[in-house]
Amino acid sequence: MYDLKPFLEYVKEVNPGEEKFHQAVKEVFGDIIPYIKDKPEYENAAILERLSEPDRMIRFRVTWQDDDKNIHVNRAWRVQFNNSIGPYKGGLRFHPTVNEDVLKFLGFEQIFKNALTNLPIGGAKGGSDFDPKGKSDDEIFRFCKNLMMELHRYIGDDTDIPAGDIGVGKREISYLFGQYKKLTNRFTGTITGKDIDFGGSLIRTEATGYGLIYFVSNMLEEKNEVLKGKKVLISGSGNVAIYACEKAIELGAKVITLSDSDGMIYDKEGVDEEKLAFVKELKEVRRGRIREYAEEFDCEYREGENPWSVKCDIALPCATENEISDEDAQKLLDNGVKLVAEGANMPCMDKASQLFRKSDIQYAPGKASNAGGVAVSGLEIAQNKIRLQWTAERVDDKLREIMKDIHDQCKNYGTNGEDSIDYVKGANIAGFEKVANAMLAFGPI
Ligand code: NDP
Repeated sequence: MYDLKPFLEYVKEVNPGEEKFHQAVKEVFGDIIPYIKDKPEYENAAILERLSEPDRMIRFRVTWQDDDKNIHVNRAWRVQFNNSIGPYKGGLRFHPTVNEDVLKFLGFEQIFKNALTNLPIGGAKGGSDFDPKGKSDDEIFRFCKNLMMELHRYIGDDTDIPAGDIGVGKREISYLFGQYKKLTNRFTGTITGKDIDFGGSLIRTEATGYGLIYFVSNMLEEKNEVLKGKKVLISGSGNVAIYACEKAIELGAKVITLSDSDGMIYDKEGVDEEKLAFVKELKEVRRGRIREYAEEFDCEYREGENPWSVKCDIALPCATENEISDEDAQKLLDNGVKLVAEGANMPCMDKASQLFRKSDIQYAPGKASNAGGVAVSGLEIAQNKIRLQWTAERVDDKLREIMKDIHDQCKNYGTNGEDSIDYVKGANIAGFEKVANAMLAFGPI
């Protein structure tokens, strides 16, 4: 019978040094192993061994020239993890910390997240250790073009459909898609997150942040509560953070922090529409630093700090993995946080996540609460296939529906006792069932 401890030993042995990947496997299989203890068909088919081994990993060199004509070499990868329920799908990340460990953890999580959307999409992730910070548009273009020179061989609208992630926004997606189209001479929906003028979906830019807030509203509803009047901490100031902030404000919450990798702003008055418009321009156009918000609106800026020491009702980590340590988690709990929902992927360290799960707060894992982005990417694929563009209202309604359905799957599989929902357990089991059952149906391939 599967047992978590020896299984993790096995995962560590075959994936040495990949600590984030080990953390992700532990978090998912920690819930799956007890669930399948009286379902021997999964073990007989070695489902956990197969699920924790990517179908395929591609690693390649990207050579590019900077504006001073110096030549640079970066590494890039595509991890095609599992395509049991649909073509591989997952973002591309450009950040100096990208390596096989990071991409395997993200690709693994993506399998279950994508399954939760109920759309036919498998799990993948990719990216490069290239650092886009401080690079000119020309340099970004040359890098994206050369990366696609290699990547285009392995992707396709029925094979593998990349999208954005940290460091890969509208500009990078446009360069990547333009090059893909040029190389293949085909206009297909092979990349999502495209501009609406050339095949993108309305609401895709907003989808992860909006979806997170829809999910939080569903969670609050379980407690007969609403977002209006709640004090909210958000970390990050990128795509997910900005649109989570926008929807939270629209629903009457008070967002009092934002951050970037240099520090955080604490705005006691709350971010309003005008201030958020400044953040959008700062981050999406000028690519500046969040400290400029404090200078512009005369609020507190804490260099080198994260938001988690500020008293709040709701905390939404929307920056990156492992950004909440166990000390941060304890601080949030001591300060009376009632709900934590992950906008980022695996933002809580293992112990922090365990502290939240053991407490009586509501706690949602990223694979459920941040699935709105990939869900609308799935809708973008559908629109590209039928060569139509749906209205913003239609996509937004569908997004709400999908987030509610994910919430209900978590409730269905994660209800403990009378009224407590373990969203982590619920999301893990609901996502696992679909993928594992498809794998069983295919036989041992
Ligand atoms: P962006 O690149 O748009 O923004 C990332 C934000 O997080 C920036 O403010 C960045 O600050 C900050 N950040 C990144 N790394 C660190 C770090 N090590 N320490 C502190 N701050 C950091 O990315 P997204 O908003 O797209 O992604 C954020 C998270 O959400 C990631 O975990 C991503 O995987 C996840 N996600 C994104 C989806 C999407 O649709 N975009 C979908 C689902 C999940 P700085 O500018 O200083 O680096």
